Amino acid sequence: MALLDGKTVLITGASRGIGRATALKFASEGANIAITNITEDAEFCAVCDECEKLGTTVRRYVSNVADYDDSQKVAEKVCEDFGSIDVLVNNAGITRDTLLMIMTEEQWDQVLEINLKGVFNLTRAVIKPMMKQRRGSIINMSSVVGISGNAGQSNYSASKAGIIGFTKSVARELGSRNIRCNAIAPGFILTEMTDKLKDEVKKEWTDKIPLKRGGTPDDVANAALFLASDMSAYISGQVIQVCGGMLT
Ligand code: NAP
Repeated sequence: MALLDGKTVLITGASRGIGRATALKFASEGANIAITNITEDAEFCAVCDECEKLGTTVRRYVSNVADYDDSQKVAEKVCEDFGSIDVLVNNAGITRDTLLMIMTEEQWDQVLEINLKGVFNLTRAVIKPMMKQRRGSIINMSSVVGISGNAGQSNYSASKAGIIGFTKSVARELGSRNIRCNAIAPGFILTEMTDKLKDEVKKEWTDKIPLKRGGTPDDVANAALFLASDMSAYISGQVIQVCGGMLT
């Protein structure tokens, strides 16, 4: 039996990078896949097709995680389409990196609204069905810089630190309903998000990593698979760092 047989998972921001890798990994482990993205581009549609080829049922929903009403509607639609939501992966996130001295209010607001409020919006939307089912696993994509901070990323680090506090609170609040909530803190992962960094910054990050390489989206998807599956049935309120030992 595959690790996620019979489970329905909702993954936000799944057109590329970690979201895409997680959708494919979960599909290959037998999950029904509901994926969202802010734009319905060719990449997003391709992820659907790839999941379908793995023999699973897939639906895609165009939705902005920063929009509260939109998020509630997506969760309702997923319940209608699949009958349940067993796993939520709050993956969608953005960066607007700059020094605090020149950071605009808009750069602060955009990052907090998508990265942190987005996690609230979708979690708020799935807890009712999860409470009814008396089961659920919520996985929030934080970051190592939510633990350590990082110059030039005060908005992003604040959003990712907020996710950790939120995760631990949800774990405490909903544990009695058999709903688990954990965070993953990826380090330097090779995706489009990090591709835009300057080469010297990329080298600096890689040099700091004991395993001497950037992570792959699959490295993160493997941790998400563990947290989504019953292999982690007694794990809640934790932050798993997937960072090649960077924060050790
Ligand atoms: P990515 O390659 O930039 O992909 C982000 C995805 O989120 C894209 O599919 C994007 O859609 C979607 N998205 C953006 N804004 C959205 C919104 N408002 N509503 C719905 N979807 C939205 O990012 P990634 O590197 O895979 O990162 C995934 C998560 O891991 C993020 O939360 C990120 O902060 C976190 N993380 C990444 C790293 C890393 O090194 N890469 C490290 C630590 C944490 P479009 O393509 O249409 O814009």
